[in-house]
Amino acid sequence: MTGYRIQRRITPLIVGLMVALFAVASMGTLSDVSDDEAGVVPDMLTPVYYLAGSAAPFRIAVDQFIAHARQIRFSHPFDDGTGMLPDLLTHTTGVFGSVKGPNQGSQHHPAVDLYVTDRISDVALYAAHDGLVQTYRDAAKYRHYLSITKEIVDEGGSLLGLIVTLYAHLDLDRDEASGLNLDGDVVQQGDLLSRHLYAGTVGGPHLHLEIRYYRPTDLGVETFYGSRFGPSGNTNLTLASEGIWSYGSWHPDVGYGFADPRNHGLNLP
Ligand SMILES: [Zn+2]
Repeated sequence: MTGYRIQRRITPLIVGLMVALFAVASMGTLSDVSDDEAGVVPDMLTPVYYLAGSAAPFRIAVDQFIAHARQIRFSHPFDDGTGMLPDLLTHTTGVFGSVKGPNQGSQHHPAVDLYVTDRISDVALYAAHDGLVQTYRDAAKYRHYLSITKEIVDEGGSLLGLIVTLYAHLDLDRDEASGLNLDGDVVQQGDLLSRHLYAGTVGGPHLHLEIRYYRPTDLGVETFYGSRFGPSGNTNLTLASEGIWSYGSWHPDVGYGFADPRNHGLNLP
């Protein structure tokens, strides 16, 4: 198998350094995780977070959750466990937080897009982390997608929130036809998730990889997007996040936000 080696040798050093920097930076203030902290890149959090004062209970809860969530290190979804990425992985576009959507400047892509070469759609994808799998077929925005949900707990075992990782633009019908259906299963990091990207995606087959941060009480998936509710007609919607990132309208009571994969140790080409 040809390919290029993931920076396995230096990645632990970098990750170790980042963890050390993070540990020093957060010493005594674990509940205060600001986006501009050393070694950490901005996530895209709900407007409620940015609008709240630093002493607001919601903000403290988010900071505590994120401090724990960022300890979950992901593996690359194209890595079959050998440490090699396939040659067909070409490039990343739609980088986390890039501007996207009809309202240029008001919406940002809260995910990364990993493209493959020559419109190949037979691509094996692997779990970036462990958790419970759910599959979905009814999402116009993603077509088929698969999610992995992992609970984030504090030292005392209390549930702080959920990491939900979305693998979107899949062809789950073809997976199922070949006997692969993980809906409801618990997977481990590196387990096979899918063998098929959707062939008809605009711009060519690619994996839309998205990391969502949910509150412990959040159950919905699609409703995480404010855009689901429409840009008007719901006075509970904010027009846009007031923080570093914005994502159009967003229901203020739903979720914590979206994570930059780099905050989970995922170095993308
Ligand atoms: Zn995307």
